[in-house]
Amino acid sequence: MTEVAASATTDHALLPERGGSGNLRETSEQAEQVDLKRLNRALSVEAESGFGDLQGRAQTFSRFLSGVLGQDPPSDWVLDGEDRRKWQELGSHYALYPELDLPERQHLVAETRRWLDQIRRQQEPPPAPRPAPLPKPEGLSLEQPLQFLKGIGPKSAEKLAQLGLLTVRNALYYFPRDHVNYSEQVLIRQAKVGETVTLVGTIKSCTCFTSPKNKSLSIFNLKIADSSGSLTLTRFYAGQQFTQRGWQESLQRQYPRGARVAASGLVKKSKFGITLDNPQIEVLADEGVDSRSLQKGLRPAVATGKILPIYPLTEGITADLVRKAVQLALPAVAWVADPLPQDLKQTFQLLDLSLALQQIHFPETGEHLAQARRRLVFDEFFYLQLGLLQRRQRYREQAQSLPRYQPVSGELVDRFYQMLPFQLTAAQQRVIAEILADLRDPLPMNRLVQGDVGSGKTVVAVVALLAAIQSGWQTALMAPTEVLAEQHYRKLVDWFSQLHLPVDLLTGSTPAAKRREILRQLQTGELPLVVGTHALIQPTVNFQNLGLVIIDEQHRFGVEQRAALQQKGDHPDVLTMTATPIPRTLTLALHGDLDVSAIDELPPGRKPIHTVVARPGDRLQVVRLMEREIAQGRQVYVVLPLIEESEKLDLKSAIDEHQRLQEKVFPRFKVGLLHGRMSSSDKDAVIQAFRKRELDILVSTTVVEVGVDVPNASVMVIEHAERFGLSQLHQLRGRVGRGSDQSYCVLMTGSKGEDALRRLKVLEQSNDGFFIAEMDLRFRGPGEVMGTRQSGLPDFALASLMDDQEVLELARQAAEQLMAADPSLNQWPLLGRILEERQAHLLGPGLFT
Ligand code: ADP
Ligand code: MG
Repeated sequence: MTEVAASATTDHALLPERGGSGNLRETSEQAEQVDLKRLNRALSVEAESGFGDLQGRAQTFSRFLSGVLGQDPPSDWVLDGEDRRKWQELGSHYALYPELDLPERQHLVAETRRWLDQIRRQQEPPPAPRPAPLPKPEGLSLEQPLQFLKGIGPKSAEKLAQLGLLTVRNALYYFPRDHVNYSEQVLIRQAKVGETVTLVGTIKSCTCFTSPKNKSLSIFNLKIADSSGSLTLTRFYAGQQFTQRGWQESLQRQYPRGARVAASGLVKKSKFGITLDNPQIEVLADEGVDSRSLQKGLRPAVATGKILPIYPLTEGITADLVRKAVQLALPAVAWVADPLPQDLKQTFQLLDLSLALQQIHFPETGEHLAQARRRLVFDEFFYLQLGLLQRRQRYREQAQSLPRYQPVSGELVDRFYQMLPFQLTAAQQRVIAEILADLRDPLPMNRLVQGDVGSGKTVVAVVALLAAIQSGWQTALMAPTEVLAEQHYRKLVDWFSQLHLPVDLLTGSTPAAKRREILRQLQTGELPLVVGTHALIQPTVNFQNLGLVIIDEQHRFGVEQRAALQQKGDHPDVLTMTATPIPRTLTLALHGDLDVSAIDELPPGRKPIHTVVARPGDRLQVVRLMEREIAQGRQVYVVLPLIEESEKLDLKSAIDEHQRLQEKVFPRFKVGLLHGRMSSSDKDAVIQAFRKRELDILVSTTVVEVGVDVPNASVMVIEHAERFGLSQLHQLRGRVGRGSDQSYCVLMTGSKGEDALRRLKVLEQSNDGFFIAEMDLRFRGPGEVMGTRQSGLPDFALASLMDDQEVLELARQAAEQLMAADPSLNQWPLLGRILEERQAHLLGPGLFT
């Protein structure tokens, strides 16, 4: 099967090279210059390329690491004995790196990165010096309308209002989306590969057109020249909306011939000579703007040739207008009171708010900018965390003090353990203990259980249900699809009947009479457990005493839906479960008010799923694999993605593929079809048939993603794999490998894009859901991974969940400390007020409101 895989590219020029020849000896002579940036870069490149011990220009990743860590750390670093030992220990581990298997490599690299990050923080110089308080300008207040500033007329004010800029305060909080650093300005001829530079020149030509090779990619070329030469800057816009001629023309109009532009970015070499990687391009002043009208002295940053802010604009509003408004408003930062307690600012080395606001717009140096940004990012995270913690606090105060679990020995939970044909894994035991402790606690539980596909979350859920039932409570288990609810129900009936406990299933397709009976039994309290879908949150569903709510695949529900189920009881315990592991940063940002447990271990004896990325030329081998497995009595899934937004097309591709496979490829086998448009009884019939082995192959849309559990299936073929997120592919892949035999996952892709292949290769190399989720985050960004809107991911002005993880952790710590000191925040009235203002914006409705 391995031939199917496209061969990995090993030729990488990213690994560090010292002064040209880059051998180890030379590195050791320059021990003083151990370069953390380089070390970190090597570590992250290695991680991104899947831990293959990359071959760099001069040496392999592992040799580079063991070389650097094999010498003394830099002498100006303050390291204690333990840190020194750790340094050496890591060095010796890298000598063995080529011998390690994948999980060990992942672990070592992760550990090194964590440790280096910690060391770096210890070595960090204190933040930029705090200057004397800024002078408070009389006659300029924060609430003053911009219109009354000298130099801004009614016309300009109206334009600014289109950007939401009405007052001085608005202008101060209108953060630049980037800066052009003129201290990095060089002539085009001087630009060196690998440096970040700013170029200033005039536009020679500008074109924007649809890629001849990819109809959904738009290519933008801008040729600029200065006294020393010229170069072409390129940007790519992916997506149908950018290939419309109108859009392309409007983009071209923004870059008229002859206009002066500043472009900054990393210099790289391309087929056509030198260019900038993903450049920031700023039109400095085209003919439409009279730059002389900007009074002298208003633009010191420009005048002194330093750092120029670039603001988000809309059509008809010039950069200079916004810059001027901010500049005029800027002295008012002195009136901004800082809500953060002084000692907190000291502990976390934060700039004063007014200084940060000043420096985010017109920073004196790159370091000032970094410090300003750090403070403002901290604020965004800090208020979010404080809000989440306060929400939890309030909820707990309202909650009735009632433990839900009074353990009685030899009762339901113990009998359930005896029924299980296997030992619980250590991770399952730990998570169960955490849940039972929550149930014993008078405060209501609000816990998220994360566990990779197949880690055994169901068993853990059942223990929680039985513990609550045994103590006299009713319980509910809600799943996002009928297929999944049905499947849970089937398992639970099996166990519950042995325990002589009733359980019922309530979904949209439960017949009316049955439904009435279930509702009656819930109302009287006769029914201790109901399993169901969204049908459970209908207003007609009432419980006698609902004590525990479990929500499976919780991320598939909206916040309101989760809350609606919860409100069927009086502050019941809530357990949510997800198989889509969320990296810790996202967990904090999204669920700062939840406790999180991880089932981070799979039951023993599982064979990792053999995963390969396959190209169209490999089809024949894929067909052979399917035939071979089916001949051995196994079964196969073929999954098709959502081809377009349109469900119709989606359906068509599944129907076509089903027909093609049945008639042309596998006439001897039975091929079934499953898609979202089928009625739930039809869906169920198909899944039943597949489960009973009446079908060899199941062609499906992504409806099989969650839940479907057919241990005999051993092959998962995913078409157009590049269209899926990594976590979703991992989830789909989890439909096989549920038995003890070898299983296979084939990721079919016609894409030649290097990025797409690199992304898919992550799945070839890892079976670890958390690792895959981290990579997904790196490749696609948090918004796409979580689906910003449904997920309730906060909309930050500056903060990035990718790049600011460290600040997020600090903000969390700070919020916890403050809440511990004074949960009412009475000591800091201003803080309380700002929190309230921000809360509405950041938190949205939550489980605890
Ligand atoms: P998921 O976390 O994906 O919901 P399930 O709860 O469906 O996983 O469990 C997957 C399979 O593993 C089930 O067939 C279950 O019976 C089995 N299982 C769960 N825990 C263990 C264990 N400790 N040892 C062996 N098999 C287990
Ligand atoms: Mg499950």
